[in-house]
Amino acid sequence: MASRREVPTPELRCPTCRAELDRFWSYCSDCGRRLEWRDVTRETGAECYYCGWVVSDSFSHCPWCGRDIADRDSSPEPLKAPKGFKYHRRCRWGCGGGVMYPMRYCPWCGRPEKWRHDEFQNVCPHCNKGVDDWMNWCPWCGEDSTGQDLVRQALARARRLLVTTRIKDWHYRVLLRPGVSGVTHSSPKVIEIERRYVTGKRRRDEISWTMLTGLILHELGHSFLFHNWRLTRTGRFRRAFGEVRKAYRVSDSKWVDFEMRHVTTTLPNYVTAYAATHPQEDFAETFRVYVVRRGRLRELFGEFGRKRKGVVLFEKFLVLHDYVRSLWGWR
Ligand SMILES: [Zn+2]
Ligand SMILES: [Zn+2]
Ligand SMILES: [Zn+2]
Ligand SMILES: [Zn+2]
Repeated sequence: MASRREVPTPELRCPTCRAELDRFWSYCSDCGRRLEWRDVTRETGAECYYCGWVVSDSFSHCPWCGRDIADRDSSPEPLKAPKGFKYHRRCRWGCGGGVMYPMRYCPWCGRPEKWRHDEFQNVCPHCNKGVDDWMNWCPWCGEDSTGQDLVRQALARARRLLVTTRIKDWHYRVLLRPGVSGVTHSSPKVIEIERRYVTGKRRRDEISWTMLTGLILHELGHSFLFHNWRLTRTGRFRRAFGEVRKAYRVSDSKWVDFEMRHVTTTLPNYVTAYAATHPQEDFAETFRVYVVRRGRLRELFGEFGRKRKGVVLFEKFLVLHDYVRSLWGWR
């Protein structure tokens, strides 16, 4: 008697870009191409009349496009898993039928199914389904899975400023994510922007593109420092910024301070009030203001002089300036 060994799925690749795919994704996460899952292996002998995706003769509805495909072959009773399909759980509407991940509709009662997307790193800002950080396109809705399309203006502005300031690209990646804005040491090139600021009600009410650009540049400052961590080990850096390894709690409520050009007059040794909260924030704020002012130290130092800033603040900008230049091999 033959054993019921699981037949390994052949490697699935996008017909256009050859990127790896998961079965039943609607779009390639690499090139965004629309996908179609036909019954190529003749497993069920049936395809949906409307969308062309593989179905079972016993279904009453297409689990992919949701249309009514009932005919005389359809099972009068909801089944658990007909040939070619797996049973992952029961229909969430209680019709008694079984459904397989990631069916969008119950093949028995036709009502929409929902799946938990815990195995993914992030949530698509367009459809709220699971996506991974390396994806360019959402495999479920086909939109930009990073959400960069929602912050395009701010991102373009930040990029232009970095180019003008002559900061070498370190291949950072901006992603919208629910939760907090920030960068973690374990993935220094991933800049997370709290999606609430962009897609939520607050975005339209309170947050300007200028503010968002400031927030992105501040987070880019964290990313730049994590990426160039060796800089923090130099005596010059430590004398200017202090001990960046000092433990601290991120306070996300302060982000509104990231105005584009403002330099505080109250704290002589810090560029902004937020910079005084921790050496890492100090660096991120110094970076942000340095980039916003396009690296023009003479203009900036003139302002510091008028505002009676301390010597150490000048030094912070010089540490950054000299390091940025050293990355190009300039002296
Ligand atoms: Zn592709
Ligand atoms: Zn269909
Ligand atoms: Zn159902
Ligand atoms: Zn999506």
